[in-house]
Order: sequence, then C-alpha cells, then structure tokens
Amino acid sequence: MHLTDGFDRTFKYLRLSVTDVCNFKCQYCLPDGYKACAGPRPLSLDELRRVATAFSELGLSKIRLTGGEPTVRKDFTEIAQTIAALPNVETLALTTNGYRLAERALEWKSSGINAINISLDSLSRGNFHHITGHDRRDEVMRGIDAAFDAGFEVIKINAVYLKGINDHEIDAYLDLAKDRALSIRFIELMETGDHASFFQNHYISAEVLKTKLANEGWAPVLKTSSAGPANDFIHPDYQGRFGLIAPYSKDFCKSCNRLRFSSLGKLHLCLFGEFGVPMRQLLQHDDQIPELKERIQKAVHGKTANHLLKQGKTGITSNLSLIGG
Ligand code: SAM
Ligand code: SF4
Repeated sequence: MHLTDGFDRTFKYLRLSVTDVCNFKCQYCLPDGYKACAGPRPLSLDELRRVATAFSELGLSKIRLTGGEPTVRKDFTEIAQTIAALPNVETLALTTNGYRLAERALEWKSSGINAINISLDSLSRGNFHHITGHDRRDEVMRGIDAAFDAGFEVIKINAVYLKGINDHEIDAYLDLAKDRALSIRFIELMETGDHASFFQNHYISAEVLKTKLANEGWAPVLKTSSAGPANDFIHPDYQGRFGLIAPYSKDFCKSCNRLRFSSLGKLHLCLFGEFGVPMRQLLQHDDQIPELKERIQKAVHGKTANHLLKQGKTGITSNLSLIGG
C-alpha cells in the first residue's frame, strides 16, 4: 500500500504533534511562552493510536512524535509504547528540546523510540539562555550523553541558523561531530505568521554554510530517493556528519515525503499550507479507521506542488509549535 499525491510523491513519514504546549520560549517560535487558552483538548492516547494505525496501514513506516514539546505530556511514554507496537511502524522518532532527556533517555528507548532529534540552538550557556529563555544548556548536553548511553541508533542535533545570534558558533558545532557519530543539522529560519520582523533580522541563507563546508573539505553525500530534506556532508576527520535543511532552496518541495497531523486532529499537507483538514470526528471509534483512511487518501491527492514561502506566503501557521515543525 502506498500513499501518493498528484505529483508522484510517495508519503512514508508522518510528523504527529501530541501537544502544542511548550515549556521553552524560543525567540523564533514562542518568544512569550505558551499561552493556555480555553479550547479543545489535545488528542487522547486512543485518538493518537487511531491516527497512527490509519497512516501505518496506508504504508507510512516512520512516525515522529513532535509538538510543542511532546515530552511535557504525562502519558508521553505510553503514547510512544502504543505507537511503537503497531505492526508497520519501523521508525518511531522523537523531536525534543531535551529538557527531560537526561533522566528519561533509557525509558524512552525502552518504549520503542529508535531515533531522536534534539534541538540545541547554541553551545554556549548564555546564548542558549538568550535564545530559549531557559538556562538549560548543560541539562540538554547531559541529555545527549544519556541518549548515547541508552543506545539510540540515530541521534541528531538540530539548530536553527540565526544571523547575529548563533552563526559564529559553527566551528564549535563541527567539533561536536569530531569524535561522535552525531548528525548535526542547521535549519534555515522559516518565516511564520507571528515573527515577520524576527525573520527579517535573523534569516541567513544556508548557502553561506555550504561554501564554508566545501572550503574545509566536507563532501556532499548523494541523496537517496527516500531521503528527507537535509543535504548531508561528511569529512574524513569527523565521525559525525553535518546537514543543511534549506526550505528556501529551489526544488525543496520536490522531495517532500512527509505529512503532518496536529494535536487538535487536523491533517496538514504542507507546513505552510492555507488550511488543515479536520479529521477528529473520525478518530472516535476503531471501526471508523477505514473511513479515516479514505479521507486521508482523498486529502493527500489534493496536495499542492510547492509552498510559497519565497513569496512571503507563510500560510496559516503562526508559529511552528502548532504543528511541530
Ligand atoms: N519542542 C520540540 C523542539 O524544539 O525540538 C519539538 C517542536 S519544534 C516546533 C520542532 C523543530 O522546529 C525544532 O527543531 C525547532 O528548532 C524548529 N523550528 C521552530 N520554529 C522554526 C522556524 N521558524 N524556523 C525553522 N525551524 C523552526
Ligand atoms: Fe518549544 Fe520547540 Fe518551539 Fe522552542 S522550538 S518554543 S522548544 S516548540
């Protein structure tokens, strides 16, 4: 079974947001922190299980738990266990700000998560505090050690590339990949509805980094047809690798292999789309799963070819905590 759209793209990967709540205040995402408002509750464990079941039966073999900060949920480990136990799920990944990783890495590994992305926007304690609003750089670094000790097969570090904020730290990040099989990825800052002026002030193209890497002997890794959006680079003197995610680059959408599902039950065909397709009413009983699958197939067929970020059209996404980046 393959889930495809009208442009011959096959979808193997779902990013499933389990909450839009977050405890950090990243300047480019939730600078004033999460604001609770009266509204529907996030999807329950059973609702999340039905979403994951439908997508896995439609041929998706990789599911990433994201948010907000997914690990703020009290039932987070149970969610991971439930989804990891589904027959077709080969990769269960987590994207986290890492604040609980040092104490929970082993528990999450045992729950069935086998790949982990840790956001780390600065290696300096003061700068980390400045960017995220939290003095927790040391905790997150301990979390990375704990992830290695727990035996995660894939450990990636994500940093958003920010002009004037962390663009002077590249050599320190490269050092981190010297003796460890870490994959470090710099993501171009994306414009979102809430943060137009932050974007104007701090966007910097990943081309700058590409040139630096080429000058320092890093070689691009050939992309496989199922590869995600990162362009990876390797170097003979480094155990780890360095990746660039450049959503503003030409042809970025051509290799799109992912779909997104919000914690309020909407399918998002594109991070920067104009709408989410409401599905929550089909998540209430197990016997609705066939109808849910049909609705997903129909919606995916209408996915557009490209986002319009370059034209400044950010879609309905006011910040990425709402649908998990
Ligand atoms: N809270 C978790 C975390 O930060 O890892 C998961 C959710 S967060 C929205 C997922 C990813 O999106 C993080 O790596 C974050 O840095 C990235 N992100 C958020 N806003 C972004 C933006 N405007 N541009 C580029 N990346 C962004
Ligand atoms: Fe929270 Fe992640 Fe957004 Fe930072 S990027 S505010 S950690 S959701």
